[in-house]
Amino acid sequence: MATPRVRQLNFRREDGAPFNYTPGQFITLHMPWQDMELRRSYSVATIPGSEDEVQIAVTYVEDGRATKLLYGMSAGARVEATGPFGRFVLRDDPPGRYLLVATGTGVSPYRAMLPQLRARLDGKQHEAVLLLGVRGPDELLFGEDFLSFARENPALCFIASYSRRMPGTPMAHARQGYVQDHLMELQPDPKRDIVYLCGNPDMIDTAVERLKAAGFDNHNLRREKYVSSN
Ligand SMILES: Cc1cc2nc3c(=O)[nH]c(=O)nc-3n(C[C@H](O)[C@H](O)[C@H](O)COP(=O)(O)OP(=O)(O)OC[C@H]3O[C@@H](n4cnc5c(N)ncnc54)[C@H](O)[C@@H]3O)c2cc1C
Repeated sequence: MATPRVRQLNFRREDGAPFNYTPGQFITLHMPWQDMELRRSYSVATIPGSEDEVQIAVTYVEDGRATKLLYGMSAGARVEATGPFGRFVLRDDPPGRYLLVATGTGVSPYRAMLPQLRARLDGKQHEAVLLLGVRGPDELLFGEDFLSFARENPALCFIASYSRRMPGTPMAHARQGYVQDHLMELQPDPKRDIVYLCGNPDMIDTAVERLKAAGFDNHNLRREKYVSSN
């Protein structure tokens, strides 16, 4: 368990070949369920450099079918997968500020993007704010990766939005409330900012509505909604 409600699973390709992906992409797992095939997608959380592993983080969904299968897996189990897929990736963007917003496991793509982000921040033309919304400090998925990255790279600001429980001791990165509200407190500017949104569909809908009202459109607004396909 990576957090009390998230299980991390690390896979290897059976043929031993490296797993080639662009940070931000996802894979689709194909699993037998009764008389049908269940297809469920999961963002790749692997940080480039350890491509022999396909790491995913799976939220526990009550009565979820894939959840039941993936939480029941033990070491050595096999699963069929296709991919990687998706266009939720960093592009050749002009200088500016990235606002990377996630709820829960929606932060996995940003973990995979860390080396690319480092290169862009080092170039001094970009800065970034990463906002992760979870219920409480024990659910801060990959929190140490982001906190240590932010310590080493001052051009990245990491904000944890806690909707239910705050840390016992005050912490500079911790805010009480919802990530979509903290995003708007950063005064997103369509002339300068590029916003990535990943995870809970309701969070994304709310954020998109507000950002469009502020002048954003599809060229500076990128999203990945976590929904089940069948
Ligand atoms: C591109 C993409 C990437 C994704 N990446 C990830 C990822 O990295 N990690 C991850 O955990 N999930 C991810 N998802 C969601 C994932 O594919 C499944 O939808 C999720 O695991 C639930 O599947 P399930 O079969 O267990 O639940 P289902 O049997 O499909 O759903 C059971 C019930 O729970 C509700 N439900 C479904 N999902 C959620 C949820 N997340 N929270 C609360 N209620 C829910 C459903 O509406 C339904 O009522 C991604 C989805 C997409 C499209």
